[in-house]
Parts: sequence; C-alpha cells; structure tokens
Amino acid sequence: MPELLSISSYVDCHGCSLCLLPCPMWRAHRDIMFSPQGIAKAMQSEASAEDLRESVSSCIMCGACDTVCPENIDLIGMIAQMWSEIALPKAMLEPEVAPSPFVMSCDASVQAQIGKDDLYVIDAAPFHVHYAERVTHYDDLRKNTGCSMNLDLNRVAIPTGTGSAAEALEKFDVKKQVQWLVQGRDFKRVIVENRADMDVLREITGKPVFCISELLGVVVGSRGEHAAS
Ligand code: SF4
Ligand code: SF4
Repeated sequence: MPELLSISSYVDCHGCSLCLLPCPMWRAHRDIMFSPQGIAKAMQSEASAEDLRESVSSCIMCGACDTVCPENIDLIGMIAQMWSEIALPKAMLEPEVAPSPFVMSCDASVQAQIGKDDLYVIDAAPFHVHYAERVTHYDDLRKNTGCSMNLDLNRVAIPTGTGSAAEALEKFDVKKQVQWLVQGRDFKRVIVENRADMDVLREITGKPVFCISELLGVVVGSRGEHAAS
C-alpha cells in the first residue's frame, strides 16, 4: 500500500493543476512556480529549498491545496519542511485553544444569531487541517442559517491571508485577497472566526464585523488566550 502523507510524496505529483484553483499564492502571482504544483515538479527535478526560496516563502500556509490534491500529497508538510531548510519562521499551525471557533460554531445559541444577511468567514487553516471532519458541519450551518460563507465550489475555504507569517505577508496583498473573497456576495454583516480578519474585512466591506466569540460572550485575545466576558 503506498504511503499517502509522507513528505517525499511530491514525487507522486502528476501535474493535474487542481491545487492551483484554491491557492492564493498562485492567484497573486499567476506563475506556476508560485503554486504547490510548481514546487512539487521542481523538487522532482531536484530543485533545492534554497532554489525555491521565493515561491515557498510566498505560501501563506492556508492549507487549501491539501484538501484538493487527488494524490493526497502532504503539500503543507512539503512546504513546511522547505521553510525549515531555509530557516524561515516555524510555519506550523498553532494548536487551537478551547473553545475554538469551530466549537463555538457548534453552539446552538451562536447558530441562532447567524442569518441570511451574514457573511460567515471560516478560519481557513484549521478548517483545512480538519477538513474531513468539519466540512459537513459547515455545510449544515450554511443551509440551516441561510448565511453565505467563504467557501468555493469545492467547499474549500478562501483564506483572507491575515495572521500568516510575516515573510509571506510582505509578498501577499491581503486587501486584494479579501476583495476577491467578498466579490459578488450579498450580505449586511460579517462574522469571523479569526479576530485577525476583523480590521481588513471592516475596511474592505464597510459593514459591521463581529467575531464569533462575541456571539458566545467570550473574549479571545490576539494570541488565542480567552476569558469569559
Ligand atoms: S493537485 Fe496534487 S497531483 Fe495535482 S498538480 Fe497539485 S500537487 Fe500535483
Ligand atoms: S498552503 Fe495555501 S498558499 Fe500555500 S501552496 Fe497551499 S493553497 Fe497555496
């Protein structure tokens, strides 16, 4: 049986380009080298992490590519390994604190406050890490409340890009990404899972923006600490 999630599995990339569709790095650059496919293919040709420094340091670690790859290549693991080889800051997702935004979104009193006029912005990275277990929950939340969400047609969360590593953010236009995220959506209020998304969404949409922790009556600090309000 083939090993599915090993870092070396970039060798299994067959170039289908599906990972380009949700990748904000590719959207920003429109250059195959700034995509998981381009990185995997370059590694197949023995490119080193240093050779690929510019592209791997532009990844915002949103995890969207991992959910769509038909070969189940551990693309996040591949890029994180390269970050460590070129001494970029640790690129791993911080552990979720309790209650996590996902847990808050399961609360009936929180769900009762979400409606059809809301744009609900899922925190992309933890969603993609737990994609298989969470996608049905968010589908139900969307159906039951009538809200819109930052999900694309493949039910992959469109990331805002805030809260990413500094080096990547210098090369990534968060405002453009958020403009793309809200384009064509009709809503009167925004609810975010990640407080880091609040300011940019307020600025781009001009609409009221709330954090899900406010719906639960919990104040969550920027580093993840929380306390009952
Ligand atoms: S989706 Fe997977 S197999 Fe397809 S190009 Fe991207 S990394 Fe390669
Ligand atoms: S983690 Fe996000 S930005 Fe990085 S390669 Fe995958 S989809 Fe692109």
